[in-house]
Amino acid sequence: MSKYCSRCDTELNDDAIFCNRCGNKVAENHIETSYHHSDFACPRCHSENIQSLPIIYQSGSSGTNAITAADKFIAVTKGNTMTDLARSVAPPTKKEENWWPTFVFGALAYIGFENDSTILGLIGGLLAVGGFYSIYEIDNYNKNVFPVEYDNWQNSYLCHRCGNVFRIN
Ligand SMILES: [Zn+2]
Ligand SMILES: [Zn+2]
Repeated sequence: MSKYCSRCDTELNDDAIFCNRCGNKVAENHIETSYHHSDFACPRCHSENIQSLPIIYQSGSSGTNAITAADKFIAVTKGNTMTDLARSVAPPTKKEENWWPTFVFGALAYIGFENDSTILGLIGGLLAVGGFYSIYEIDNYNKNVFPVEYDNWQNSYLCHRCGNVFRIN
């Protein structure tokens, strides 16, 4: 008897833990009936040859054979190097907060004011404020924008037929 993913209805290997199409954990919640989930298709070309971005990324970048691609999906290149496809669907990453310009400009302002050089002090101070502001913006991105983009990525799919990337909730 075949086993099917409860989320997207893809036929699975008997020992599959994750669905290689949508990434659903199927070990304990698989069901043995086949019914059609029509929302699991590309909204542009209606192809059902779609695959979860995290699944493509993991299978293309890890080099393991843990994920066995079903015949109807593209064969994922196995190996230690990241495939071009995996690279193109890499997750969004957090931005790094870079403090050193702010320190340098702050030190410049300090030296300026200590030596009665108002111009140097003001320029250093303004640049330090700018540095603080860019750190604030990066912090804001990491706390507010990044989680949304990451969630989007986790729920996005690539159509192997037309190349469309879209989100399914
Ligand atoms: Zn699935
Ligand atoms: Zn498509």
